[in-house]
Amino acid sequence: MGDPACWLDQICPECGAMLEAPDAPSLVVTCWRCDAQVRFGDEGPEVVKPAL
Ligand SMILES: [Zn+2]
Repeated sequence: MGDPACWLDQICPECGAMLEAPDAPSLVVTCWRCDAQVRFGDEGPEVVKPAL
């Protein structure tokens, strides 16, 4: 089953930049644009540590 809006789950909640989702779920990635740390959970990306 495909999710037509799955790319929305890769948008940085802080700045809206497209992020590369990590291979494993629940890993934290750092946004290339705003330096926020974003975790990709089951319910989509959430900011773990906002950029200063
Ligand atoms: Zn960002």
